[in-house]
Amino acid sequence: MTTSPEFDLITRHFRRATRHTTLGIGDDAALLDITPGMQLAVSADMLVAGTHFFPDADPRLLGWKSLAVNLSDMAAMGALPKWATLAIALPAADQAWLSAFSAGLFACANRYQVDLIGGDTTRGPLAISVQIMGEVAPGKALKRSGAKVGDDIWVSGTLGNAALALAALQQRYALSAEELESCISALHQPTPRVELGLLINMMAHSAIDISDGLLADLGHILKASGTGAEIHLGRLPISRLMHQRMTDPAVQQMVLAGGDDYELCFTAPTRNHGEIAKLAGLLGLPVSCIGQVTATPGLMVRDLDQIIMQLSQHGYDHFNQASPA
Ligand code: ADP
Ligand code: MG
Repeated sequence: MTTSPEFDLITRHFRRATRHTTLGIGDDAALLDITPGMQLAVSADMLVAGTHFFPDADPRLLGWKSLAVNLSDMAAMGALPKWATLAIALPAADQAWLSAFSAGLFACANRYQVDLIGGDTTRGPLAISVQIMGEVAPGKALKRSGAKVGDDIWVSGTLGNAALALAALQQRYALSAEELESCISALHQPTPRVELGLLINMMAHSAIDISDGLLADLGHILKASGTGAEIHLGRLPISRLMHQRMTDPAVQQMVLAGGDDYELCFTAPTRNHGEIAKLAGLLGLPVSCIGQVTATPGLMVRDLDQIIMQLSQHGYDHFNQASPA
């Protein structure tokens, strides 16, 4: 029996010990040990070179991010991620690139106890698709459609750092090397808020992860729930770097509409306000109340002077389309 070079490559770079899996990489299909009575939550994301990342991106960071963005979807559902598959198209079998990529991927997989259980490898323009599977108790998943009028709107972490780093890398915004250093991990190594998702699972009415910018993603919750919202620019969680620049409309746009933050945005009844505020201390992660869900459709944003901002959809679309290509 001979083994193909492709199979050697998969074994070397992607076959590792598993935790929740009877049969992992190496057969025609994997066999998962699902906890009886739980629902399976499934999601996939695709990252294409030139569109979602620079073609010469550091493969280690890319490996981390490929899995992290999927874990973020599990977090937004309040699900516990357990299994992932990886479909990857590569221009060439570059062993050094693959070692670094898999090191980054497994750093993330190990941190969140996720098994890589299979996938597909093919030659082609660099593209990476990860599918993630996790468990959630029946009826307990956090959906976009659950927001209720009067709910508080919460956001984890800080907003806009990934957009700021991207703008600096594309020379659309000037930052010193030190300043770039302080925001670039938001872009390259996002931290999926899995623990937060599991903790708010019982307290929140709806949730989404912020991948396309707060306005767009909160907009998805509002649309799915048939509600509106009022939020305050001055209450949005931002880093110190952002703070000094918040009077600049370009920076306000990064905070409101910049993508790639992978924080959670969720809504919860006011009776849970105190308990949610306490999560920040428990997790060492800021969790900020930015406004309320309203009956009036549409998303209203009050600026630093409490004046209602005119949100030009086009302006934000233009911003969202900024890509590293
Ligand atoms: P098949 O021809 O049956 O599709 P492959 O030769 O493509 O099988 O894959 C062999 C094994 O390696 C399978 O278990 C598959 O799930 C796994 N695999 C292939 N590519 C990857 C990858 N990029 N990451 C993880 N597992 C992979
Ligand atoms: Mg195959």
